[in-house]
Amino acid sequence: MNPNKTATKTSESKNAKKLESARVEMKGVSKSYGEDWDAEEVIKNISVDFPAGELTVIVGPSGCGKSTLVNLLAGFEKPDTGQVTIDGEIVTGPAKDRMVVFQETALIPWQTTLENVTFGPKMRGDKQGASLNKEAEELLIKVGLGEFMHKYPIQLSGGMQRRAELARALINEPTVMIMDEPFRGLDAMSRSLMQEFFLQLFEENQKTNIFVTSEIDEAIFLADNLVILSNKPTTVQTVIKIDLPRPRNYKMLTSAKAFKYRKQAMELLHGEAMKSFAVSK
Ligand code: ADP
Ligand code: MG
Repeated sequence: MNPNKTATKTSESKNAKKLESARVEMKGVSKSYGEDWDAEEVIKNISVDFPAGELTVIVGPSGCGKSTLVNLLAGFEKPDTGQVTIDGEIVTGPAKDRMVVFQETALIPWQTTLENVTFGPKMRGDKQGASLNKEAEELLIKVGLGEFMHKYPIQLSGGMQRRAELARALINEPTVMIMDEPFRGLDAMSRSLMQEFFLQLFEENQKTNIFVTSEIDEAIFLADNLVILSNKPTTVQTVIKIDLPRPRNYKMLTSAKAFKYRKQAMELLHGEAMKSFAVSK
């Protein structure tokens, strides 16, 4: 197939179709760091299901092993026991069907926003030329950066940089998006705008999303499923189904249902945070 032909009238519906989703599972996953005699167990026998096309939020105290979980899901690290599967296939390393967006910006400073978005597919030889540029431009317009395509990362605000990173991940048409505290460090206003923007994208595409945060309100606002972690060695304490309607809006966070979820999550997380505080004293 001629790749230049695929992006002719890449309409929204076509894009949405391309973005298929997959079921991700962790089964009996454990992970320790260090030598045998001095090993520190970070992840302890975690089994959790990330249903296809749903947004699952992982929430846990700082330092409990959330990024370690992300690295295992992405295939950057290998579990000591157990396995991660995508639609039943065991993950053995990183692949472009699983895109990760980190808290730290990973934009290349000497490339424009557009060049940053086209860089990955170009390097891998997946897509190229005018059709790739057009696809990238459409994505950047979609994330609200139409006016900023030819600017450099330093010329973008924090929120814009995160949106550029989203576009950079989406150009690879991943089946799974993994986000590791992507909005941490943004000011409160930008953060809440980014949450709403991210939800819009998700509600449009409905692809499997795994979103890591340490903020309870963010977690409840976004999630279909909320996975609450314990302290190290980390296990899954509870999975709560967040039964708030979509499309979501901020008013839902003040509903009685959301309050009940928040109370439940806070009680569990507070207990865990207290334990880690006692250990580190
Ligand atoms: P979180 O993202 O929840 O803040 P992390 O997954 O970054 O937590 O870290 C969990 C624990 O694992 C920490 O105690 C950290 O020191 C340890 N850890 C993470 N990555 C490594 C590594 N590559 N080598 C050694 N220890 C690590
Ligand atoms: Mg982390």
